[in-house]
Amino acid sequence: MSDLSTPLSQVLRTTKKHLERMEFLGLKTVRDFLTHFPRTYEDRSTFTPITQAKINEKQTFRGHLSSINHRKTRNGRLLISALLTDKNGSLEINWFNRPYLLQVLKPDMDIIVSGKIQVRNGRLTLANPDFELVKEEQLHTARIIPIYHETEGITSKWIREKMQLLWHFTENLTEHLPESVLREEKLMGYREAMREVHFPTDFSRLALARHRLAFDELFEIQLRVFERKRQWTSGFGQFEKQIHADPTELKKLASHITFAFTNAQKRALKEILMDLKRDCPMLRLLQGDVGSGKTIVAAVAAFCAIRSGFQSIFMAPTEVLARQHYKDLSNLFEPLGIKTALLIGSLKTSEKNDIKKRLANGELDLTIGTHALISEGIFFKNLGFAVIDEQHRFGVAQREDLQKHGFPHLLNMSATPIPRTLAMTIYGDQDLSIIDEMPPGRQKIVTRVVPEEKRPDVYRWIAKKVEEGRQVFVICPLIDESDALEIKSAVKEYEYLSTEIFPNLRLGLLHGRLSGNKKTQIMSKFSTGKLNILVSTSVVEVGVNVPNATIMVIEGAERFGLAQLHQFRGRVGRGEQKSYCFIFEGKASEKNAMNVFFPPTRDKIRERLSALERHHDGFKLAEIDMEIRGPGEIYGVRQSGIPDLKMASLTDRELLLRARAQAEKNFAYFFEKQAVQDVLKRKSQ
Ligand code: ADP
Ligand code: MG
Repeated sequence: MSDLSTPLSQVLRTTKKHLERMEFLGLKTVRDFLTHFPRTYEDRSTFTPITQAKINEKQTFRGHLSSINHRKTRNGRLLISALLTDKNGSLEINWFNRPYLLQVLKPDMDIIVSGKIQVRNGRLTLANPDFELVKEEQLHTARIIPIYHETEGITSKWIREKMQLLWHFTENLTEHLPESVLREEKLMGYREAMREVHFPTDFSRLALARHRLAFDELFEIQLRVFERKRQWTSGFGQFEKQIHADPTELKKLASHITFAFTNAQKRALKEILMDLKRDCPMLRLLQGDVGSGKTIVAAVAAFCAIRSGFQSIFMAPTEVLARQHYKDLSNLFEPLGIKTALLIGSLKTSEKNDIKKRLANGELDLTIGTHALISEGIFFKNLGFAVIDEQHRFGVAQREDLQKHGFPHLLNMSATPIPRTLAMTIYGDQDLSIIDEMPPGRQKIVTRVVPEEKRPDVYRWIAKKVEEGRQVFVICPLIDESDALEIKSAVKEYEYLSTEIFPNLRLGLLHGRLSGNKKTQIMSKFSTGKLNILVSTSVVEVGVNVPNATIMVIEGAERFGLAQLHQFRGRVGRGEQKSYCFIFEGKASEKNAMNVFFPPTRDKIRERLSALERHHDGFKLAEIDMEIRGPGEIYGVRQSGIPDLKMASLTDRELLLRARAQAEKNFAYFFEKQAVQDVLKRKSQ
């Protein structure tokens, strides 16, 4: 059998346990196995003469064995010792607890060993080195040796042996890139690159191989991106939704806005208005830090759409946020004679039906709401413009639903600032506008990562500030993707704070399982000052505006990305008063942390979090996160949408741009060959 999708269980003679462990590493088929790339390499290609051995360095030696002895050590371990001699010198080798070696090792045997030299009892000694008999072709020594990600029982040595065993399968690896791409990018062929990464001839060819495979990964991502773009822009037929900005009308609107736009807001608005004039639907992402003023930019665009005769919608991920937007936008628009409405799931059926009717007959100009806005049974007379706020909280499915409503211009908004290279990867199908400037007069939020022993001080401080009339948010930790657990922890925190710490204050609890009405009730109690402290899960709070809230407490902060923490922090500092953010680590933060194999140390966690004390720019924080934790963490655990890259790095801007350019240039080729799907599926076969 030579099919790359052959299950490993059919071609490897090994134990069930090994197969299970392989599966744990994500390795089920031959192709998986071949694309299990080494983590790093060790150069064992040159032998060090024993007389030139350097203490404490990894080196490879070749010589012959003599004086093989074994005994029990004082603590009962089996010690095999032997002498390795080359032309001019000798050293001692110790192996502990490897009884099978007694069968393997013979005097005068020629072997190659690789390990770190130490001095023991005045002699050069190698403890537990990797070793291999001298053969015609060496697998574990005498070459550049691949080191793989390992798991219990699946050692690099084991993988190398199996790799050799399955080597003939590499014959079936076929080139999937067009010749022009290989030529223009000077790329190594696919099969050759695959072979080279596992068994490199030399470091320069290895570098070429890795480059080729990294290119592949980025290229595939970009193909995907262009495929998504094609899906958005194809199939709308005759597009007749050109939207124009009428200067006289805009002046009227401007007289209702109390502040002047920042330059960044002006620039973003200009980019959007340019798109709206065109004869195909806009697909644009507006990125801007919390509080940078995205809403008003979207509102102006919606205004232009409405004045050009189109309906607009404004979608938010939660009811709380939708209500807030509704309040602000209806205040702005109703005086201008624009008809607005709020459509959310928790409305009474009769209310919903009424709105449905007014959407269908075109009476409503701007409707604000949740996903309910575009759900089954909703029809628009003439939808021309849609805004999706906090778009990363929605799935991509949103877009398809919107398409059913006749391809409006789409403006996505996100307050999660992400580095540009990453944006190109996950939002690469959209045009990008960035608001990178804050409205004037915003204060920095004083931020402290608080050690557990200082917790009582923070509580005392909070009590004092509440007495002065301020309000407080407490964000509870994110727990294992599980809403149920998360809610439980929020309930517990709420009970603890209400009974043990602040028995005399009024606290509220907000989480995703509460009914829409209940949520609104609590939010409005908080925003009208009837509650002092609002305890909330991370899911609910996004986007709310309560200027009198000046203290933000974040629990279990290590579970969030820095950019996300920054977003939470943005809930305070919205009024005149100085604002504060207190960050606590979870009590078991080391255990909780993402990587179960190599949990980051407490110091590392603290160092990462302390970036929030120093930096107040979301983009900067996102970049720091990308460097420290990798791109997957920028959104925290929940919705990354970030592909799992084995070879490429999303910080490699140049390669990413090249791969993107080639994907764009060759998209038609792949598309015609119906090959996009094939290439995209290749990895998961
Ligand atoms: P976000 O980008 O986080 O959605 P918002 O649109 O909610 O931010 O804006 C935050 C606050 O800043 C709002 O109260 C808004 O009215 C105000 N704002 C927006 N733009 C400006 C500006 N140019 N000058 C002053 N205040 C502004
Ligand atoms: Mg917002």
